[in-house]
Amino acid sequence: MTGPEPARVSAGEAGRTIVACARRLWQAGLIAGADGNISVRVGDDLLVVTPRGMPKADLEAADLVLVSLAGDHRGGFRLPSSELDLHLRIYRERQDVGAVVHAHPPTATGFAVAGVGIPGDVLPESISLLGPVPVIPYATPGTLAVGDGIVPYLRGHGGVLLANHGAVTWGADLQLAQIRMESMEHAARILLVARSVGHVTPLTEAQVAELTRPGG
Ligand SMILES: [Zn+2]
Repeated sequence: MTGPEPARVSAGEAGRTIVACARRLWQAGLIAGADGNISVRVGDDLLVVTPRGMPKADLEAADLVLVSLAGDHRGGFRLPSSELDLHLRIYRERQDVGAVVHAHPPTATGFAVAGVGIPGDVLPESISLLGPVPVIPYATPGTLAVGDGIVPYLRGHGGVLLANHGAVTWGADLQLAQIRMESMEHAARILLVARSVGHVTPLTEAQVAELTRPGG
């Protein structure tokens, strides 16, 4: 899923949207404690990212960190997220991506623990927003191997599940990346119910083709 160049936002605006996104993810139960990390691209070689180890519900704009695409510290008083490399890899590979969200949504992460992806032929909303969501092999959180695993899946997807870990979504802006994370968890909940009461009925190829897949 590729799209147009992301809209450029100021570091201040990025900070406000990241703080709001972190609270929303926490309130929705998609992260707990210091889980998860969020970033927004604010220039060709600059992004704003959440700090390492802080409870996301308590995050303030002053806690955020500015880093270059090479990972060099460019502003802020805290250390960047331990998953910074994962974010950098996505921005380097996808010029059209303006924001990345990593969370541990409980139902979708349950799918990831079971090694089961979210199919791309069942729920219209999930198909048009995300496409199929694959499970990528487990890698120790915070290591370069997480980024190595995700790079092959960056095109044709709006997000991935990380085996035994969580989920990552991206988009042209933070609103889209956040909606994709919420949508992934919602799709996982619906699929769980469908499988517990009966079998999952996929859409036909023609029905899937009728659903547009926006870029990003
Ligand atoms: Zn994580």
